[in-house]
Amino acid sequence: MSLNFAFGAATDVGQLRPVNQDSFLATDGLAIVADGMGGHRGGEVASAIAVTSLRAAFAESTLESLTEGVAHANAEIRAQAVNDPSLHGMGTTLCAIAIIDHDDNGVAGEKLAIVNVGDSRGYLLHDGTLTQVTEDHSLVEALVREGRLTPAEAETHPQRNIVTRALGVADTVEIDQFLIDPMPAARFLLCSDGLFGEIDNDEIAMLLVQNPDPTIAAQLLVDAANRGGGRDNITAVIVDVSQELDGSQPGSLRAMRDAATDEVPVVQATAQLGAEPNWATGPEVEPDAAHADDEAGGRGADRRRWWPFTS
Ligand code: MG
Repeated sequence: MSLNFAFGAATDVGQLRPVNQDSFLATDGLAIVADGMGGHRGGEVASAIAVTSLRAAFAESTLESLTEGVAHANAEIRAQAVNDPSLHGMGTTLCAIAIIDHDDNGVAGEKLAIVNVGDSRGYLLHDGTLTQVTEDHSLVEALVREGRLTPAEAETHPQRNIVTRALGVADTVEIDQFLIDPMPAARFLLCSDGLFGEIDNDEIAMLLVQNPDPTIAAQLLVDAANRGGGRDNITAVIVDVSQELDGSQPGSLRAMRDAATDEVPVVQATAQLGAEPNWATGPEVEPDAAHADDEAGGRGADRRRWWPFTS
């Protein structure tokens, strides 16, 4: 059995921002969304470096190659920021899905891997149900997990754009990894926060269910977010995973379908490489100096901030 991607993608600057700082890649076997941050041209440069660096570094179809590729992208962003003062302080989110080789008790096969840093998202649509695979690395998400904010409060919280992890911030980066078993008719969505900030999960699910063509579905998602306000750059990459049966595994697709349960077979392989900030006693969140110029930007300014990691 081998897995293949069919994909569609759309991106738009939105209604308020002067430039589109999102970048994406959609290929068979690897798809990426990156949402850049930083004044001047830093954000768009950071997201573009992230995508190109990960694509170049993902040389082997393994989880290690994927995570090492993200670490490599982080290093590239930092190196270029050092070399060009106008790019100082740039950063980006990154969410990627890839087909990887996986050894299951001596049986070689393929799985899907999603890696995530920041508040872009990976979703899975299966059997008509939309599930958010990734966890946002954002201040409000941390507060929701602690029970200090409700999800509804988080959606309108004035600090909802503060991310707690990003590429480009520190020499090491903590990468969330999710391994997902192949399943029939799985559709994945990678998107920047400009999408889910404007339309809710029900509308995302409806558009994904109603539009089998991934390119059309991606464009309709972006259009809906623009109608919802388009306050940020909007990017949607849709990946439809298909399975080709080979002669050695007759009936495996049927076996998989029979074995399917209502539970989403998502496994978070590893996550903790560093300590989360202590929100209860952490410092007040202030815009860092590198992005002070954004504050005066008003309309269209990037109001996102990241927690000032200094490790
Ligand atoms: Mg964004």
